[in-house]
Amino acid sequence: MIDFNILTKEICSQASSFGFLEAAIARIKIDEQTKAGFMEWLNHKFHGSMEYLAKNTHLRFNPEILHEGTLSIICVKAPYLTKPVHSHKNRLSDINKAYVSSYALGRDYHKVLRKKLKEYSVWITEYLSQYDFKFEYRVFTDSAPILEVELAKNAGLGFRGKNTLLLNKTQGSMFFLGEIFTNVPLIPGKPATSHCGSCTKCIEVCPTRAFVSPYILDAKKCISYLTIENKESIPEEYRKAIGNRIYGCDDCQLFCPWNKFSKLTNISDFNPRKDLEELSLTDAFLIDEKQWQELTIGSPIYRIGYESWLRNVAVALGNASTSPEIMSALRQRQNFPSVMVQEHINWALAQHQTR
Ligand code: SF4
Repeated sequence: MIDFNILTKEICSQASSFGFLEAAIARIKIDEQTKAGFMEWLNHKFHGSMEYLAKNTHLRFNPEILHEGTLSIICVKAPYLTKPVHSHKNRLSDINKAYVSSYALGRDYHKVLRKKLKEYSVWITEYLSQYDFKFEYRVFTDSAPILEVELAKNAGLGFRGKNTLLLNKTQGSMFFLGEIFTNVPLIPGKPATSHCGSCTKCIEVCPTRAFVSPYILDAKKCISYLTIENKESIPEEYRKAIGNRIYGCDDCQLFCPWNKFSKLTNISDFNPRKDLEELSLTDAFLIDEKQWQELTIGSPIYRIGYESWLRNVAVALGNASTSPEIMSALRQRQNFPSVMVQEHINWALAQHQTR
């Protein structure tokens, strides 16, 4: 006879040996309030062009349909910082350097977490074989219609901050989430209570004022959306606020007081590619397509493509201090065969000419 309380503790306590901060169990039921909130967010079109978010809501709201036979979900957190928060603030403050969101400095987390989750699942399979229990599972990490933050919150891994992310009082929020859907009736954790209190720092520091209200983000205004998901021209009203952020944005996390307690990772795949941490804006802009592919292959940046990269860097160059190097770099690329890139270059040149 299996004691599922003990089994749950044993399985969760093993998570750290695979590089995870913590594991806990989520029940598979999504509450009605969460579903209504998500549908309202979609109705306001806050998801912009991310149409995949509006698809398959029945799977998002019913994990047992997404993977048949699921009785519980093992939720994990994998930290990704290799340096403390203040060093990322320092990177951000150098307006002539390219700021790449801290989660994207190393190898693509989809691949890394998937591998770690599979290794963890193999261990669980072997462990359960002593009970003659056939472990059936499927692993996910930001790869399917899943309310990841909601599940992790229900499992007790943290609370949802006003910046919409999962936060933990002793670990901050700079970690990835992953899930193992299983046929084992493990014992769910207890949801954590909220600890934002009267703080509104993330809302105040957001460069593009993307928070409509606490807990509600208009993704269309978020720099992560504008520089990564968005394939079109970046609306002019947001370009100055983007500053030197060429891929994503960390501000609502970097300035959150709980991230003083962020943990560093021991997953070596997240070690930054040196060039990405130190990249000057002019080097980022003059790099040719082949060099760019070599720099970004295997990283999440690769998916945005060279044209969006140049578009983003052009905006950052328009926001940098005027110098002969920057003017020369912008002019060298003026004939780049993309109407979108040319338009951003012209905008950047105009910023320097009107100063
Ligand atoms: S900055 Fe303040 S309000 Fe925002 S998530 Fe952190 S604690 Fe909550």
